[in-house]
Amino acid sequence: MKFAELASAYEKLEGTHKRSEMRAILVDLIRPLRPPELAEVIYLSQGMLRPEFEGVELGMADSLARRSVAEGTHTEERRVAEKVKASGDLGTTTSELLSGRPSSGSGPSLTVSAAYSALTRIAEAKGVGSQEAKIQVLADLISRATAIEGKFLVRLVLGTLRVGVREMSILDALAVAFADGSKEARAKVEGAFNLSSDLGLVASVLAEKGLDGLRSVTLEVGRPIRPMLAEREPNLHDVLERMGGTAALEYKYDGLRVQAHIPKSGPVRLFSRRLEEISSQFPELVDELPKAVHRTPAIIEGECVPIELDTGEIRPFQEVSRRRGRKYDLERLQEEVPVCLFTFDVLLSDGEPVYERPFPERRALLEKILRPTERVRVAVQTIVHDEAAATKFFEEAVAAGGEGVMAKSLKPGSSYRAGARGFWWIKYKREYTAGLADSIDGVVVGGFLGRGRRAGAYGAFLLAVYDPKRDRFESFCKVGTGFDDALLAEMPKRLHRFETDEPPPEVDTGLVPDRWMRPGLVLEVRGAELTLSPIHRAAFGAVRPEAGLALRFPRFTGRIRDDRSPTDATTSKELLELYRSQVRQATPTEQPTEGDTAS
Ligand code: ATP
Repeated sequence: MKFAELASAYEKLEGTHKRSEMRAILVDLIRPLRPPELAEVIYLSQGMLRPEFEGVELGMADSLARRSVAEGTHTEERRVAEKVKASGDLGTTTSELLSGRPSSGSGPSLTVSAAYSALTRIAEAKGVGSQEAKIQVLADLISRATAIEGKFLVRLVLGTLRVGVREMSILDALAVAFADGSKEARAKVEGAFNLSSDLGLVASVLAEKGLDGLRSVTLEVGRPIRPMLAEREPNLHDVLERMGGTAALEYKYDGLRVQAHIPKSGPVRLFSRRLEEISSQFPELVDELPKAVHRTPAIIEGECVPIELDTGEIRPFQEVSRRRGRKYDLERLQEEVPVCLFTFDVLLSDGEPVYERPFPERRALLEKILRPTERVRVAVQTIVHDEAAATKFFEEAVAAGGEGVMAKSLKPGSSYRAGARGFWWIKYKREYTAGLADSIDGVVVGGFLGRGRRAGAYGAFLLAVYDPKRDRFESFCKVGTGFDDALLAEMPKRLHRFETDEPPPEVDTGLVPDRWMRPGLVLEVRGAELTLSPIHRAAFGAVRPEAGLALRFPRFTGRIRDDRSPTDATTSKELLELYRSQVRQATPTEQPTEGDTAS
């Protein structure tokens, strides 16, 4: 495929935010493709070169890209900079500069594969002379590009491709392009993605071997699985009722979720909840896991929690978050903030996938293959049949430093449901007992400039929840409380790459911030209560026509959820459940009806 065809599809995608139109454009784009080109187009359309968990950064600094554009279009760099000031975007400037150029007469010649391998060379260039090399590769591409190709090549390397193709849209398009587009087909495609986290792989297998061929996509050591997630209930009575009267309760540890991949030989790899590789941040776990886990290759999951090594006591979560994203001082931090992995599930053992087995079997297997060490243990668990026993265990969990309990279904169908949030796991936290039941993870979609002491920086942020059905980010509050000055000073740096002049098409709000942001950063907030509002658009119309949900007195908890991508934020449906659970708590005599809790 010519890169021009891809660029023209991007142009069309930019012009719409209707999910059905986007899908039609994507279907037309990918249907004629076969591997490896198909996978390349899938990755590029998400602004990546490889599946996200491989951590290959496509990004190039603005200043380097500007030099490439200057060279590739034979323009003085100063002039390029001036034009960018006017257009606000180097991609647009590139296309302007290229369109003024005499045509070579031969039409677009660049292929997707050639562009993909050039972009890979840019991403992989390291060490001395790498900057020059990157500039040259991009300049060469630009010099051969048409105006529209140039625009998107530059946006790709800058990481600002704004065509809004998210995983869900690609899954939709794959099911239509390479199967019959039915619900069943869509579910199979998504199932394969949940197990492999690799859309390029899923697309390639689907295009070559059809829907049934997707059965060959299964767990592999080194390739993270999309995590199973929990629903919530407002009290232990409802938890038990939901589980059918009996459940396994485990401590809910407050730390970082870790998926550990332990090969037969070779290094252990650790992945976060967002499936980023975090092995280098926890060398002591990498070291100790092969000693603790038998029957490798294995994939196990657990929560990594800071502990007091002498007493085994759990320490506050904030301490372990200091170790996230650190490259230096790791040795010192290892000593200062010792961690323990409390394992709670096994997905692969002895090289065999076991995720489809019911939970009691997986737990028994976990206990069998794990010889606990100082830093690798098994989550504390008990089986309960009544509320009194559940309450006793909950209190014990909280006293031991947990944030509550996780209830897990023991039913025959209790397999590990990768990538899904459901009532097979239910969380119940200490904080549900007071005020608004839970904290909310909101995506920053706008910034408001501060006044007074905060003049010149952001003073408040517009937050949104995610609605996967509409693929939209719906606002629910403006938060300016809970930030200290140091953090406020840091926010512009963190948010810079998401800032945009136009309201992002995927954002739905009745407020206009001083600066729009594309959904990127996730903040944890708490508040007094959820109310109805004509301005905010979360779960709009679900409780009352023309009203969305809004959080009163929002307050940032101090926790930036780097472990979450925007689509992992609290969903509109969860916000609605929180709204309903607070209504229920306010009138305790009222019995919840079946239809009251969304399932
Ligand atoms: P939260 O913000 O409440 O931690 P989350 O959305 O990140 O929730 P949930 O699925 O809602 O994730 O809650 C489950 C999380 O709790 C898991 O992702 C995991 O990190 C953590 N956890 C702690 N202890 C356990 C346990 N025993 N079993 C399963 N998950 C546990």
